[in-house]
Amino acid sequence: MFTLPKLPYALNALEPFISARTLEFHYQKHHQTYIDNLNKLIEKTKFTMMNLEEIITETVDKPEYSNIFNNAAQTWNHTFFWQSMQPGGGEIEGSELEDKIIKNFGSFEKFREEFKQAAVSQFGSGWAWLVEKQDGRLAVMKTANADTPIAHRLRPLTTCDVWEHAYYLDYQNRRAEFVDVFLNNLMKINF
Ligand code: MN
Repeated sequence: MFTLPKLPYALNALEPFISARTLEFHYQKHHQTYIDNLNKLIEKTKFTMMNLEEIITETVDKPEYSNIFNNAAQTWNHTFFWQSMQPGGGEIEGSELEDKIIKNFGSFEKFREEFKQAAVSQFGSGWAWLVEKQDGRLAVMKTANADTPIAHRLRPLTTCDVWEHAYYLDYQNRRAEFVDVFLNNLMKINF
């Protein structure tokens, strides 16, 4: 049985950038529902013996398991999204991470532009990511719907949820504004 992991901060901790109301719905309703669905779908199957990462890599690209993949991946993605934000986020100055970002993207500003472009251009629901590839290089990518880099042997360092439920109550259809706020005020890179 999978359970909703504890949020790493209070529901109102990301205000004024993400309202407590948005986080309440997103965490307590959306995230919880993916977990409930997953638990129901894997009942009395071999998947009850596996952890979340194993379920994701076992079910990716298998149409017969698409429901399980979608709910497992969304469960994982949301837990990682909460860890990809913090009050007073968006700062990397003076860190080892800053050197690595500069080496890979030219500057922190260029990284943010590339990340924003990926997030804004994702058609429909999905996610924008900073990932580390197997050769150690960093890359920005976007994934559709529930898809997740961990299904493709990439290590996620941060993510922004660009499903409408992530921002609609606070920003309505203004996804670009939400992505700017994520990058400048909330982003935590898990390096
Ligand atoms: Mn979401």
